[in-house]
Amino acid sequence: MKTEKILGYEVHRKKVKNINLRIKENMEIYISAPENLHSDYIKNFLISKEKWIKNVLKKLEKIKEERKEKEYITGEIHNFLGQKYILTVKNGNFNRVALKNDKKNEIILTVYSDIFDNSEEKKKILEKWYFENAKKIFLELLKKWMKILNEDVKKFLIKPLNKKWGFCNYEKKYVALNVELIKRTPFEIEYVILHELAHLKYPNHGKGFYNYVEKYMPNYRNAEKMLNAKHHY
Ligand SMILES: [Zn+2]
Repeated sequence: MKTEKILGYEVHRKKVKNINLRIKENMEIYISAPENLHSDYIKNFLISKEKWIKNVLKKLEKIKEERKEKEYITGEIHNFLGQKYILTVKNGNFNRVALKNDKKNEIILTVYSDIFDNSEEKKKILEKWYFENAKKIFLELLKKWMKILNEDVKKFLIKPLNKKWGFCNYEKKYVALNVELIKRTPFEIEYVILHELAHLKYPNHGKGFYNYVEKYMPNYRNAEKMLNAKHHY
């Protein structure tokens, strides 16, 4: 087997029938091609795939970033309503979180000096702030969508949900949203709300369900893509 550099990519020449292009989870790109296939052909193939490669790498980068344990130190990136914010940690006579949206998006976390280096405590303060915002914003959007759909819920909860963005108990008229949604765009939040409320009429993900969702949000598939297929609703 020999390897060849084409457009900066390493191409493995092998006894294969077609060009194979794989991107591993560690962002390694693996390409194999038939031994006697002309390099120009591979080059054109790679050019045609460049946009796709870029997109996949971007997504993997995002997943990597989200999985990384936060340390709650200055310079770290934290998301809020779909925007990236740079965290600045300051000493003060109170614990407080403030947003700054001017030249650069900033989350200012002011804490007592005794917890300045305590990431657990800083995490609690920031999470409480996320939760307070989620309560306010989700409720507003829920009301908006209940009005549009002429639906009502008996119980509404915001909490950390494992592997789910939200869920609905249509019999009890009970809706819950994952607090983590507060880090996503309003579009994504509204989609999950619409999705859960739609379950009040359509318990399952059948055709009727998606027709109904699409009627109120024609571009809902974009929201699903943004929310990442690994999470269920
Ligand atoms: Zn669902």
